[in-house]
Amino acid sequence: MRKLRNALFIILSAAILFSAPVYAAKNSYKAGIVDDYDCEVNDISEYAKTCIIKAFEYTDSARVEFNNYSISAAIDALNSGAVDFITMLPFDESLTAYVDYTAKPAMTGFLALFTPADKQIYYEDYRSLNGKKIAMLHNSYFESTLSQYAQRHSFTYSPVYYDTIEHMTEAASNGNIDAILMPATTSPDGMRLAAKLGRINYYCAVKKGNGEILNELNNILADYEINDPFNSSENYSSFFRIPYQNMVALTYNDAYAVKNKDTIRIFVPNNYPMVFYDVSDGKYEGIYIDIVEQIAKNAGLTLEYVADDINDFEVTAESVIQGKADAILSVSGTTSEIIKATDPYTSLSFMSVADKKKEVDPEQALSVGITEADRWIMEYLSQSHPNWTVRQFRSINAMLWAADHGRVDTALISSPDMQTKTSLIAHPGLEIKDFSVDIPVCLGISRTTCPSETVTMLNGIIKNLYVPGEEFESKAYMLSHTYVPNFRDMLYANRLLLIIILILIGLIMAFLYFRAVHFRRLARLDGMTRIYNGRAFFEAWDKISAKNADKKYLLASIDAKNFKLVNDRFGTDIGDQILISLAKKIEKMFRGKGLYCRLQGDSFLALTEDTPENRELIQSLEDMDIHIHDSSNYQVHIKAGICPITKSGRGTPMSTYIDRANIAKKDISATNQNDVLYFSDEDLERLELESEIEVDMVPALQRGDFIAYYQPKYDLTTSTICGAEALVRWDHKDNGMISPGLFVPVFERNGFITEIDFCVYEQTLKMLKKRLMHNLPVAVISMNVSRCHLSEKDFVPKLEALIEKYDVPKKYIEMEITESIFSEGDSSAKELVYTLKSHGFAVSMDDFGSGYSSLNLLRVMPIDTLKIDKVFIEDIETSEKSLTIIQEIIAMAKRINIKTICEGIETEGQRDILKKAGCDMAQGYFYSRPLSEQNFETLLDKENK
Ligand code: C2E
Ligand code: CA
Ligand code: CA
Repeated sequence: MRKLRNALFIILSAAILFSAPVYAAKNSYKAGIVDDYDCEVNDISEYAKTCIIKAFEYTDSARVEFNNYSISAAIDALNSGAVDFITMLPFDESLTAYVDYTAKPAMTGFLALFTPADKQIYYEDYRSLNGKKIAMLHNSYFESTLSQYAQRHSFTYSPVYYDTIEHMTEAASNGNIDAILMPATTSPDGMRLAAKLGRINYYCAVKKGNGEILNELNNILADYEINDPFNSSENYSSFFRIPYQNMVALTYNDAYAVKNKDTIRIFVPNNYPMVFYDVSDGKYEGIYIDIVEQIAKNAGLTLEYVADDINDFEVTAESVIQGKADAILSVSGTTSEIIKATDPYTSLSFMSVADKKKEVDPEQALSVGITEADRWIMEYLSQSHPNWTVRQFRSINAMLWAADHGRVDTALISSPDMQTKTSLIAHPGLEIKDFSVDIPVCLGISRTTCPSETVTMLNGIIKNLYVPGEEFESKAYMLSHTYVPNFRDMLYANRLLLIIILILIGLIMAFLYFRAVHFRRLARLDGMTRIYNGRAFFEAWDKISAKNADKKYLLASIDAKNFKLVNDRFGTDIGDQILISLAKKIEKMFRGKGLYCRLQGDSFLALTEDTPENRELIQSLEDMDIHIHDSSNYQVHIKAGICPITKSGRGTPMSTYIDRANIAKKDISATNQNDVLYFSDEDLERLELESEIEVDMVPALQRGDFIAYYQPKYDLTTSTICGAEALVRWDHKDNGMISPGLFVPVFERNGFITEIDFCVYEQTLKMLKKRLMHNLPVAVISMNVSRCHLSEKDFVPKLEALIEKYDVPKKYIEMEITESIFSEGDSSAKELVYTLKSHGFAVSMDDFGSGYSSLNLLRVMPIDTLKIDKVFIEDIETSEKSLTIIQEIIAMAKRINIKTICEGIETEGQRDILKKAGCDMAQGYFYSRPLSEQNFETLLDKENK
């Protein structure tokens, strides 16, 4: 070593002698970096460069070029003028002979001893260092520091010198040496820190006597310090990954602790952003986790996490007692029989949130709220603020509500919670007060599963890794999302407005409800009479009948007799008045005793239970008095058809009962009195027969049951056959002959009569054709035309086609149309007569006088024959009136050239009267009953012999 220095001295002196020193203020400098300790993991030259460039930033844009040298080469370069100054040079007394050092250091560094991991040497374990081989570089300017350190701690060592740092570390990994001395920028691979030797300063240096550059460098470094006073430590810690103070150093005891317990199972709560489970990678994350992971790494420990989902401190402690876990992630520093706390690894700030109007003095006895999740701070609070009463709350919102309503003086919320879990928007009455409580956050280590050295070992590491509260908060801030006030917060904040809106909505709903009820009621009422309408009646009936399936009822179908006449004569206003008073009377009678409604027009329904009293009530309809209040005092009479509804009748629709009541009502005569008539058993039989008829009609037609009979007509003057009427007969397979009086009305209702008519026409035409072909005598046959043909457009063409088929001259047939189908408003009957006439048919008006026959009709209708109804004939012998009418009709018909025939002649007397009155023809039992085709033909043949 000394030899080398002497050699250097000679070289340098020579260099000084022969070089011509010309120094001038420069804009560009050449710098040499001493890089003896430079290596891959330990990039000292880059560090030096960074520090110098930063220092030169404060001068007037001077440029610096760098070159790396070993220490001896660096001094050579300085002497030869290849560089203006050198840097990264520690202070060494012996070098002051060749160089001038700057007054201030340009950079800082630390010195340490590292030992290969497999050597039994631990941190500050001086005894184990005693007598060990310590490696260093040949010309090490660090050796004096080491020897002082060894002296202080009373151990000796034997130095081993190497040329390069690579050789040195190689020797360490081969086990040839026990420790190496080098800058503590990083632990070399496979080596452990054995001792920290403290700070060393690195300077810049110029060629001995180069005062000008020295002066400039001094100025530059002074300016740098003024502007950036902590530059050296800042540069150091920003450049090297692990700061010197944080370098791990396991003592003998620490190593023992780790060896005994190298895996620690930690209970972790779920408390974002401090600790949370990241589902995406199945790992625990958070600020606490970051810190304890670093602690574990430095200690060489493995951590396992045990989820503490219930966040219940008692359960957590219990689990630790049971040995399910070795540690608790966050305790506030207090120790118990179960757990010993480490030193805090960070601290958590809890803010005071309280009523804006409230002064909160932490020194006073306060009632303080915390959340259940934060219950671990309870013990700390009981020591730091013994006069506080602490209450726990399920949630932050519940706690804030309590603060808002004076249930607690203040709420304590951790700053990350304040940021990530709530917003004061929902609590406009609250504010953050200007005091907070900093709670130390420690690891709680189980006394049962971990050796007592574990806590000491962890404390040694935590000392270096402690994260100050502010740094913790800024980490929390960067890591976590900010709480965005949610819909509930908004609702809560605006609850007064909300209540008003709800009340308004309530009022509107109530209004709409009552309006709907009102309209529903209206919809159930008849507009004019204000009693139920049909729909409401049917709905009510559905409910009643469902509930009282075994009760008997009476249904009354009521209407005014001749109501059309009332309207015509007195006008619709009076008509309406009549209906209203009829409704009122029905209501008065049946209110509370049954249902009633106006169905339509003058048609009303009433329904009541079938009891003797109610039968009397219904009978009292006959006493109803309705009259028009004017001079005429016109009496309006009603008719009521009653249909009893029996038990067995259930399942039958209401419409059927109404039909039955109407059937009974139809049988009521138009006389001037109120009438009540019950639907009888015979009515029911008739109905049933009718329905049988309807079922059987089509098969009967196909079977040929419908047969034409012929009733001859006689010329009254000659007393010979002058024609016949075709009349249908149903020769039923089971029931024998059925009268047309039974089935024709049914067929007229369902329209089947049109089929029957053509069936009769065809038989008639066939018969005529047969006789004409055989040159037998024939008579004009009149055939009945049902009212149903009026709505049938192709009736006449069909008839024509049939006639054409049988080729029978039209002079042999006549069409009989009943008078009752001619109505005032409807012209279709008249049109039919015209069409028939234009096709060359003879037309006879049947049943003349049975309806409201109008003599005027005769004037306008091109009728050939008038067939006077048999009701006139019945009493022609006894009633002067009938006789007169007949005589007049016959006389008048004669005058306008219409022939007359009377039907229903049963006696000789009747025949004589008619003959005398000048009637042309007669038809009736007196002459002949309707005959079968065969009998009729026999009669024809006989007559014409
Ligand atoms: P209507 O057209 O007035 O026929 C005359 C009815 O009087 C026939 O009754 C006939 O048998 C009956 N009659 C004839 N002479 C006498 C008599 O001296 N005394 C009594 N009491 N009655 C007599 P019928 O055959 O029972 O027919 C009843 C009604 O059925 C007919 O009345 C007619 O309206 C209808 N009808 C019968 N056949 C047909 C048909 O083929 N087509 C159509 N559309 N209606 C028919
Ligand atoms: Ca007839
Ligand atoms: Ca007739």
